[in-house]
Amino acid sequence: MGGNIYEKTLIAILLIMTLILGITSCGTKTVESSKPVVYASFYPIYDLASKIGSDKITVRTIIPPGIEPHDWEPATKDVAEMTKAKTILYLGLGMDSWIDKIKTNAPNVTFYEVSKGITPIVEGNQTNPHIWLSPKEALIMAKNIHEALQKSFPNDKDYFEKNYQNLKITLETLNKEYTDTLSQAKHKTFIVYHSAFDYLARDYGLKQEALVGSDEEAEVSPARMTEIINLIKSKNIKYIFTEPLTSPKPIQTIAKETGVQILHLNTIEGLTKEDVKKKKIIFH
Ligand SMILES: [Zn+2]
Repeated sequence: MGGNIYEKTLIAILLIMTLILGITSCGTKTVESSKPVVYASFYPIYDLASKIGSDKITVRTIIPPGIEPHDWEPATKDVAEMTKAKTILYLGLGMDSWIDKIKTNAPNVTFYEVSKGITPIVEGNQTNPHIWLSPKEALIMAKNIHEALQKSFPNDKDYFEKNYQNLKITLETLNKEYTDTLSQAKHKTFIVYHSAFDYLARDYGLKQEALVGSDEEAEVSPARMTEIINLIKSKNIKYIFTEPLTSPKPIQTIAKETGVQILHLNTIEGLTKEDVKKKKIIFH
């Protein structure tokens, strides 16, 4: 018996997460100048804020679609545009540290850090920012976003409250499904490219083995390649996960070497340009 059954369960469950924290269907929504604009630093915050703010606000992402968000930096024109905003939601934990540049240039904007209250995972001198991939942490993010919107637009307080309660139920249900299913998993180890699933692993008792740390631009060391190959062989692991915004060569090398099947696991860090085209989502 390999990691087969367990990994299939994990895939199914992560697909559910992708669907829920997935593509917000904006359909034919058009930009209405009467609606206040809220900026979210990147996609997961955009998604949660859109679900709470719904018809009362227009949410835009600061990082454009199709871009891997870890190393993005704002251009001068981005900074200039942000200074006109009323409210900016950002993650913190080092994910969007460029926000400081905008803060110093935008004294009239209110900034909200949506990772507030989360116990961070620190590796060496780096804090792992991938909280949105654990429903347990996404619940805290949703609470912070809800409070930020209520403070920013007190007239729509009750409207946000209703949407927030619905979102909370969805995330709580998901949290329970993860807890119940993953606690029964016989095989706890899964292999990914960059360490995006640390919080998920911590919150649901899994063991993530990543080729590189929390920044996917990093190079995989030959020693780490060997370790992963040996791990696959010793634990008889059948799958390795790759992600949509990068196409890492080392994953293909490992698959060739060991015969594991490559599967996609969305880190929900951003949409691809195709996602945006399909759903007609309005971005910055
Ligand atoms: Zn990442």
